[in-house]
Amino acid sequence: MLVLVINCGSSSVKYNLIETSEERDVCKGMVERIGAVTSIVKHEPDGKKHTKDTRVISNHSEALQEIMNYLLSPENDIISSPSDIKAVGHRVVHGGEMFKDSVLIDDDVTEAIEQAFDLAPLHNPPNLKGIQAAKENLPKVPHVAVFDTAFHHSLPAHAYLYGIPNRLYRRYKIRRYGFHGTSHYYVSRQYYKIIDKPVKETKVITCHLGNGGSIAAIDGGKSVDTSMGFTPLSGLVMGTRSGDIDPSILFYIVEKEELTLNSLHALLNRHSGLLGLSGYASDMRDLIAEAKNGDRRCQQAIDVFCYKIKQYIGSYIASMNGCDAIIFTAGIGENSPLIRKKSLEKMGYLGIEVDDERNENAEHGKIQKISTDDSKTEVYIIPTNEELVIAIDTAKIAQATKQSPWL
Ligand code: ADP
Repeated sequence: MLVLVINCGSSSVKYNLIETSEERDVCKGMVERIGAVTSIVKHEPDGKKHTKDTRVISNHSEALQEIMNYLLSPENDIISSPSDIKAVGHRVVHGGEMFKDSVLIDDDVTEAIEQAFDLAPLHNPPNLKGIQAAKENLPKVPHVAVFDTAFHHSLPAHAYLYGIPNRLYRRYKIRRYGFHGTSHYYVSRQYYKIIDKPVKETKVITCHLGNGGSIAAIDGGKSVDTSMGFTPLSGLVMGTRSGDIDPSILFYIVEKEELTLNSLHALLNRHSGLLGLSGYASDMRDLIAEAKNGDRRCQQAIDVFCYKIKQYIGSYIASMNGCDAIIFTAGIGENSPLIRKKSLEKMGYLGIEVDDERNENAEHGKIQKISTDDSKTEVYIIPTNEELVIAIDTAKIAQATKQSPWL
């Protein structure tokens, strides 16, 4: 089934047109800087010429129109009619407590996504804009919401409750939700395919390390803990997000620097993490290069980043009382031997031994083991594919609803 996957940010729309039966991207692309003086439009059809242009695109609806025009243009030879697209899958960051699975989007679902605006003010509003824009352009097909939080719905109360008055949970739903669920789900399922053990008996730790980063403990196929919490700000040190800090620091800096709530929000979300620690960059490649040139603060940023990963891995081994495999994924996890090695060094006590040669020579884009053959806990690199999870879920729900006249 041909499914269009849409991932909307506040000023961007990413898309993947996926043929689910072949698990293949027919075309993918992105409209960036929506609403700026000029927007950037990229299209990457499989096996054909890729393009990058600038346009004036003032809102998400125009961005969707641009994408549809490109896909439909006879010159590009991708689809000949909107009816070739059988369903649209939308990445929605926050599903609150309501959604433990992907759902067909109807008025009630739209309202529930809107109700979660407070929980994810940076993500859910643009996600909903994307849904509305895609519905305008493709009104006749089923639209499905796939939530970043859904996979973590299985967290037990002892992992999702914070040590604050319980009425705050009951009244405002303040609890750990966790994010990157589709990625943790996907890489754990890829791991189950290559092992010879019932899923129920497996204990896995998945490390999604991109610009944003999170770690999940997956016991018997179910997420039982994860490092991101009420919002994606907590847990690991990330590109520009602080991750876990002592909450008292907030009161202290608000007073010392006379910050408003908005600037405090920006400080923790956009000026902290690797960028804040290094004072140089949020991109791991830049930090590694500068640390090699002897920059002490870039080296410290890398050290703090890896130490936090190691701490979470250790704590999840304790939570699950064991671990069969640790899986690295996303930009940093898939591509940086240095970060993988540093995050797992001196963990022989817990049965983790990285094979330096396997780690250094790992091939890009492939599932591979990088632990030694004697390592009690195996270590893998498994490339993630969140869009494919969204497309497959969408196809399943679309098929079940038979809403599309073209199915
Ligand atoms: P996003 O969260 O935006 O999807 P990605 O998963 O693309 O992020 O990851 C981006 C991060 O991956 C950046 O910090 C980038 O520097 C890092 N990265 C990509 N390739 C490498 C590499 N070869 N070595 C180290 N870091 C890398």
